[in-house]
Amino acid sequence: MLAVLGLSGTGDTDWARLRGLQYSGLATLTFFRAYAHAILGLFTAQIYQGSINFFWLAAWLGALVFVQVRGVYFDRTLADAEHRRISRKEFYGQALTPLLSGALWAVPLLAFTPYGSLTDLMTLLVIVATLAAASIYFYAAAPLGIFVFTLTVGTAAVAHLVWQELWSVAVAGTLYGVSCLLGTIEVARTYLTARVAESGVAEKEEVVSLLLREFEENEADWLWEVDTSRRLRSVSPRFAFALGSPQKDVEGKPLLELIAGQTWESGKFPTSLHDLAERLKHCENFSNLLVNVTIRGEKRWWELSGTPMRDDRGRFVGFRGVGSDVTEARNSSEKIAYLARYDTLTSLPNRLQLTEALGDALKFAEQWRTRCALLMVDLDRFKSVNDSLGHMVGDKLLAQVSARLLALMGEDQLCGRLGGDEFAIVLRDVSDFESVRGLANRVIAALSEPYQVDQHTLYVGASIGSAFGPRDGKTVEELMRNADLALYRSKDIGGGEHFEFEPVLHASAEERRQLEVSLRKALDRDEMVLHYQPVVDANSSSIVSFEALVRWDSADHGFVSPGKFIPLAEETRLIVPIGKWVLREACRQARSWPDHVKVNVNVSPEQLLEPDFHDDVVKALAETGLRPERLEVEVTESIFLRDATTARTALEQIMALGCSVALDDFGTGYSSLGYIRKLKFSTIKVDRTFVQGAAQNSSESLAIINAVVAMAKSLDMTTTAEGVETLEEAELIRRMGCDKIQGYYFGRPMTHDDALKLFDGSAELKSA
Ligand code: C2E
Ligand code: MG
Ligand code: MG
Repeated sequence: MLAVLGLSGTGDTDWARLRGLQYSGLATLTFFRAYAHAILGLFTAQIYQGSINFFWLAAWLGALVFVQVRGVYFDRTLADAEHRRISRKEFYGQALTPLLSGALWAVPLLAFTPYGSLTDLMTLLVIVATLAAASIYFYAAAPLGIFVFTLTVGTAAVAHLVWQELWSVAVAGTLYGVSCLLGTIEVARTYLTARVAESGVAEKEEVVSLLLREFEENEADWLWEVDTSRRLRSVSPRFAFALGSPQKDVEGKPLLELIAGQTWESGKFPTSLHDLAERLKHCENFSNLLVNVTIRGEKRWWELSGTPMRDDRGRFVGFRGVGSDVTEARNSSEKIAYLARYDTLTSLPNRLQLTEALGDALKFAEQWRTRCALLMVDLDRFKSVNDSLGHMVGDKLLAQVSARLLALMGEDQLCGRLGGDEFAIVLRDVSDFESVRGLANRVIAALSEPYQVDQHTLYVGASIGSAFGPRDGKTVEELMRNADLALYRSKDIGGGEHFEFEPVLHASAEERRQLEVSLRKALDRDEMVLHYQPVVDANSSSIVSFEALVRWDSADHGFVSPGKFIPLAEETRLIVPIGKWVLREACRQARSWPDHVKVNVNVSPEQLLEPDFHDDVVKALAETGLRPERLEVEVTESIFLRDATTARTALEQIMALGCSVALDDFGTGYSSLGYIRKLKFSTIKVDRTFVQGAAQNSSESLAIINAVVAMAKSLDMTTTAEGVETLEEAELIRRMGCDKIQGYYFGRPMTHDDALKLFDGSAELKSA
């Protein structure tokens, strides 16, 4: 009973919430109650107007009306109590109206009746009884009021009846009052239960529909709720966790203040938060709003949905919604977006972004009748670094390359990495060709400066091919292909240069393609032939061996130099079948030479890395019957830059057969005296450039030859000087201690028949 009256809070039921539910109903009936009091008050005044002084009557009526008006005002402030917590002060403040009303109605009962007739008394009792009965209805929402009112008026009435010694009426009045009070409790209990159920159902309905909707769309993490002043209400533990504070600390706090972090004071909210604030302010529905929040100083992303809540009469009472923390998902989607557009290793824009930028630049150029440019940059000798020092060093080098590139970029210039050691620069608006050439030269110069990676000092160069849009290509693909052709050209002549695209490059690319087609057929068409160049003993000038050099006389292209088709064959791996043929043919022809003359066969890295290279050698020797000791394989230092272990194993296997291995072109490429120690070579062939250099008295060339000769001697290897063209060179080389000499001076590469003539005496070599 006390709980229904609001005089005690029972157990865990929420007193303020229950009172809120009860008292919010008052506002609707408060007018009727005020009218009823006023009219019945007027009626009472009318009864006693003859017997009571007008002044007293008016004063009484005035007080009654005043109390009712105050009651109306007070009750109306409780209209929103359903959605908030009601305070004790409001609770007792509300009870003041019935108390004062009761007191005022006690006045005619006690003070007016002695001056009126018995009928007047009876009429007044009926009026008061009516009011008591009616208040059960009017105050059903606030039973304490009925109690107070009925108790005050009833006590006054019964007291007066007892004083008048109207015993039976007093007893009837008492019974009437008690049943009124009991009825009140019952009605109020029913009313309260109904309200609780009603609000529970409404609330559940809302939550369920929200959850269902949200569940269909995505997974929500917590529910949130704010009142009309956007303060948090009914904070769940999960939401409190998301807010990073205990439940009790956040309950009743403004939502925005809690999630705005530092920006709350400055008022400079992130746009998303501003957006949320606007929607809350304008009571707008929102769904999956991505909000940038700050929880305890940490930036996070929330996805919030919210619906304005309205009461039965459609008045806005707050917001309720669901939210989830999507920081991780968002970070990873940001990351994915980043990865899609940037190269992870160098953080430069990647191919996708470059092609987009180029597309934009082309559009821009077309629209404003200007031109754009694309520079393809390729590093020279990067592969060697990667192969010899490993990918870690290679990666660090690439990072340094990109930093240098980036430093050279100006406005409207975008550089990025296409992949591997290939970079590209997109120039959006190019007024003159010269500026592009200038940039290309600066890039080559900057990238060719030495690099310091870990303890290594590395030298790589750069080649550049450029094309202008829309002149050299109207589409991204065309422009890229043409810049690539220009780059190819630059690579072809040894790198370190910038080439601009010109239509004739198409022709050379086409020629290359046709060359490849013909090369594939060359062996079947019997277009290959071997020439032999003699290698002589430096002291006796007698022939110690012949180097087999392949010649291609193509039906489609005429004579093609090995300098041209060997690299093509290596690139297309056609060198494998060609090399096999050379090996067999050389062994076969060498059989007809004197037994002490060796044959030198060049072997490309591609061939050496083939798993059946060893078998091929065995087969060639077995089928031709050549002694293994007469075969010398020539390899270059580049084999150590690829798969060094496989190459070494392959060479060691053929050395085990009895063959020897020569290190060709020593001093070019990635020369290091260290390579000489890596394998038991029989011969080191000093490259032509050093022979020529020594002849011109270059101290560097002289030093290298001296060092190679000394080192070879100490390792029990022999040396061959390549490219000796004059008698002077031959003498110089001999003085320097080289064991063998090869070059035009003693003999150019010749046909097999011509080589045979050297043995039967019909022809002779020059002698030094
Ligand atoms: P290489 O193995 O260093 O062969 C020596 C090259 O120097 C030959 O060029 C030869 O003609 C040239 N040469 C010899 N003496 C002189 C000289 O006194 N002055 C000048 N200026 N040049 C001289 P060639 O025949 O054009 O061969 C070029 C390269 O092609 C060879 O260089 C070799 O690496 C490669 N090659 C040739 N035949 C084969 C082959 O059957 N298999 C493989 N894998 N490569 C081959
Ligand atoms: Mg050679
Ligand atoms: Mg050579």
